[in-house]
Amino acid sequence: MAHPLSRLLSRRMCQQWTPFQKTPGSVSRALRSPIQKPAGRRAYATGPNPNPGQNPLKIWPFIAITLLGTGSYILMVRSRTDMAPPHEQIAAPKKSTPTFSPADVTVLFVLGGPGAGKGTQCANLVRDYHFTHLSAGDLLRAEQDREGSEFGTLIKEYIRDGKIVPMEVTVQLLENAMTETLEKSQGGKGKFLIDGFPRQMDQALKFEESVCPARFVLFFDCPEQEMQRRLLDRGKTSGRSDDNAESIKKRFKTFVETSMPVVDYFDGQGRVVKVVATKTPEQVYQETKERLEAKLGKNF
Ligand code: UDP
Ligand code: MG
Repeated sequence: MAHPLSRLLSRRMCQQWTPFQKTPGSVSRALRSPIQKPAGRRAYATGPNPNPGQNPLKIWPFIAITLLGTGSYILMVRSRTDMAPPHEQIAAPKKSTPTFSPADVTVLFVLGGPGAGKGTQCANLVRDYHFTHLSAGDLLRAEQDREGSEFGTLIKEYIRDGKIVPMEVTVQLLENAMTETLEKSQGGKGKFLIDGFPRQMDQALKFEESVCPARFVLFFDCPEQEMQRRLLDRGKTSGRSDDNAESIKKRFKTFVETSMPVVDYFDGQGRVVKVVATKTPEQVYQETKERLEAKLGKNF
C-alpha cells in the first residue's frame, strides 16, 4: 500500500517527513560527523602507525567518551521529539524559493470572517473568470476524511474548536492542489482563488516564501451579527461540525485575534481589496467584480 502521506505530500516532502528524518537536518548532521570522522582517520588500523612511539590502544578512552556523548545526545533529541505535540513534529517545507512564479501563476487570497460569503463569491468568480477555487477548509476536511490520513484526528479536533490547523499541513495541501491543477492544464497559466487562507501570519509568510507570492487579498467585510445569523442558518443543512453556536463563537474569536492581523499586514502593503459583504449575494458580487476590474483590468 502507498505510504499514507504520499497523497498529501509531494515527493520532496515525503523524503523530509519519513519518521527517521523528522529529526531536523542539522541534528542528523551532528549525529553523523563525530562517529564517522575519527573512523575515517584510523590510519593505525590499516596502515603503518604514524606515531610509532605511541601505543595505539590509548585512543580508545577518547573513542569511548565520544560514543557515550553521542549516544546521550541522540537519546536527548529523541525524547524531546517524543514529547513535542504532534504538530511540532511536522517538518515545515524548507525552501527559500517559491515553487510557482507570480509571472505564471496568479494567486488571490480570499479572506473574511466565517460566514462572510467567501465561498459563494468564489463560485461566481470561477463561473465567470475561470479561476480555480481552492478552499483551505474544504481541503482540510477532505484530508480529515481520507482513509489512512495521519492527520485526520488532529484536523478534526482543530476544526471543531475553531482553531488553526498547523500550517505545514495546510500549506502542503494547497501546494499539492495547485500542482495537480497546473499539471492538468498542460502549460496553461494558473489563476487561483485561495479561500479562507492565510488565517494566521505564519501561514501567510510560509506560503508566499515557499509556494507563491499572492497578488493581493480579496477581503469580504461583514459584521459579526450578520455572519452569525448566516452560519446558524447554514448549520441547519451544512452538516459541518463547526456550524453550531459554540464552535461559531470560537471561530469568531480566532478570526478577530489571529486572522485580522493578516488582513492588516497585507493592507499595510497596499495589497487588500475590500468589499462590503452585508448586502445580497448578487449585490456583493457586483461590487466584487467592479473592485477586481479596477485592480486587474477589464478581462482579469
Ligand atoms: N482551517 C484551518 N486553516 C486554514 C483554513 C481553515 O485550520 O487555513 C480550519 C479552521 O479550523 C476553520 C475551519 O477549517 O475554522 C473551517 O474553515 P472554512 O474556511 O471552511 O470556514 P469558513 O470561513 O468558510 O466558514
Ligand atoms: Mg468557506
